[in-house]
Amino acid sequence: MSSAPIRNKSNKTSDAGGTAPILLSKKLSRAPSSARGELKTACIRTFGCQMNVHDSDRMRRMIRDAGYAEVQRYEDADLVVLNTCYIRENAVDRVRGHLGELGRLKKEGRVKKVALAGCLGAAEEAKDLERAYGIDLVLGTHNTYELAEFVGLPGMQETHTPNLPGTEGGHSAFVTIMTGCNYKCSYCVVPTVRGRMVCRPMENVVEEVRRLVISGTRYVTLLGQTVDAWRESSKRFCDLLERVAEEAPRVWFTTSHPSNMEDRTLRLIGEKDTIVGRLHLPVQSGSDRMLKLMHRGYRSGRYRRKIEVFREAVPDGSLSTDIIVGHPGETEEDHEETLRLVEDCSFDAAYVFKFSPRQGTEAANLPGAVPEDVAQRRFLEVLRAIEQNAFSRNRRKIGSVEEIYIRHGHTGDGKAVGETWSGHAVHVPTDAKPGSYVTAKIESAGPHVLYAAEPAKPLR
Ligand code: SAM
Ligand code: SF4
Repeated sequence: MSSAPIRNKSNKTSDAGGTAPILLSKKLSRAPSSARGELKTACIRTFGCQMNVHDSDRMRRMIRDAGYAEVQRYEDADLVVLNTCYIRENAVDRVRGHLGELGRLKKEGRVKKVALAGCLGAAEEAKDLERAYGIDLVLGTHNTYELAEFVGLPGMQETHTPNLPGTEGGHSAFVTIMTGCNYKCSYCVVPTVRGRMVCRPMENVVEEVRRLVISGTRYVTLLGQTVDAWRESSKRFCDLLERVAEEAPRVWFTTSHPSNMEDRTLRLIGEKDTIVGRLHLPVQSGSDRMLKLMHRGYRSGRYRRKIEVFREAVPDGSLSTDIIVGHPGETEEDHEETLRLVEDCSFDAAYVFKFSPRQGTEAANLPGAVPEDVAQRRFLEVLRAIEQNAFSRNRRKIGSVEEIYIRHGHTGDGKAVGETWSGHAVHVPTDAKPGSYVTAKIESAGPHVLYAAEPAKPLR
């Protein structure tokens, strides 16, 4: 092994394993439930962000409590729940494709009921889909609990369900700290479909984290559209993060808004052993003119300063962002500003999106539409710049010895997917279980992932 120091943050011990996985009935007959005896089956398909993944967990718990076994294929399911995204038009196109297939399976009697949930369920467009595809139940993001009644459970109130099993088999879990959003970004449909911000009380969050940790969770991700806007009287997000970081052995949070991000939060990331050194801070554009048009509430200078603080506080950390290209009114100069910001901030990763007009948002009616071929070119230029930066930053990690948290065990190729304390994704040849740690040397790097050598020995 190299004599390079091991990069770790925490000395807390934890062993592999987790809470019991959700029952999956993989091999079921294709007959409807009456012919399968009393066994009812349901399939939940999730589209979109971590918040939807978390909402699906909530629904999964309901259908399980109602006596359904979860299956993976539509044709094995009595009930199919599509938990959907509405953020861009291509997300809706995908759901339409699935609804078409489900309509056919329903006609053949292989699927009995279809429920449409999530952000698309909360949009006006859901009514048209309901009629066109004969959907049995449409749920928005605020009335998910109605699924409980639909599957025969006594009515329940929507709550932040504590003690939910983790989404990766128990070793890792999402914890919602706030819902909705108080911003009004020109392009975004989130405030319409998820409503205004509601913050969850600190004690409620901490209690859920405690219970998760006791039940075997080793990695907690705090979730919300703008987590750093969380507040409770005089307490701010930084206070909540600090409390959670004292309870959980490994903590991350997403997504943050540059206007709410406090320097002390950035410093806390570097100071606390249990917080992963990764910051996702969406910038959207490098042009002040565009940021104003988008109603983002900050200028690129503020964003750059935040990044400086982060890089200083967490020198080894990783930084990612979201960027939209082709927003109405975006000129070549605006685009150049974005490329400059990408260069200056040297992101480790980014989600780059082509603007997608969403009904009911301000940007859908703004003049100055950017032609598709121009948007595509700008998209590729930003993507290339991000990848070049990420690749050269990743190469700097080669030779370092890292403590790696195993997120997903290997799937037959012998390579597990892990994460360093700096938040970098690593492929590592090990059969260590999800939720455990290994120590390994980084041997090579690509633009999106690091590759480690065989681990020295299991750490914990
Ligand atoms: N709340 C987060 C924030 O303010 O940065 C982002 C939430 S949104 C679910 C995730 C990302 O989708 C945004 O950061 C934005 O880049 C992208 N997005 C949202 N609406 C979009 C649209 N109409 N067209 C293209 N991209 C969009
Ligand atoms: Fe959408 Fe803006 Fe709210 Fe993010 S901050 S969810 S982009 S409105």
